[in-house]
Amino acid sequence: MNNDDCIFCKIIEKEIPSKILYENNDTVAFLDVLPISQGHTIVIPKKHYTNLENIPIDDLYEVMATVKIVSNLIYKNLNIDGYNILQNNYRAAGQVINHFHIHIIPRSRADGKFRLLIPREQAKEEELNHTLKIIRDS
Ligand SMILES: [Zn+2]
Repeated sequence: MNNDDCIFCKIIEKEIPSKILYENNDTVAFLDVLPISQGHTIVIPKKHYTNLENIPIDDLYEVMATVKIVSNLIYKNLNIDGYNILQNNYRAAGQVINHFHIHIIPRSRADGKFRLLIPREQAKEEELNHTLKIIRDS
């Protein structure tokens, strides 16, 4: 099920070296070589799925279990104040590698990296109802 052109599949097969923090039968967690911060980690399933839509739920459970284990290790062993869990789907959302993956990004209070203070506007009741209809009732 692995993809010959996929850099993450090559990491799984050890064709490309990586700094593996944790590995089990179904998942691998390794340090990102372009880290946003020290300890920035990528968690992937060993099977090649492109994104959240096509990863089976059981594989997703395994990936999330690894995210929890590794996040706990990172938080316990690095001197950080918190961490972000980030998962991008499709180019428009910033997905670069087409092998489902989750980022664990360690954060410090004053790291000056990125802030989740994105401009938002109060939605109108009818807009929310319209959106519900489109997504849920179609
Ligand atoms: Zn792959």
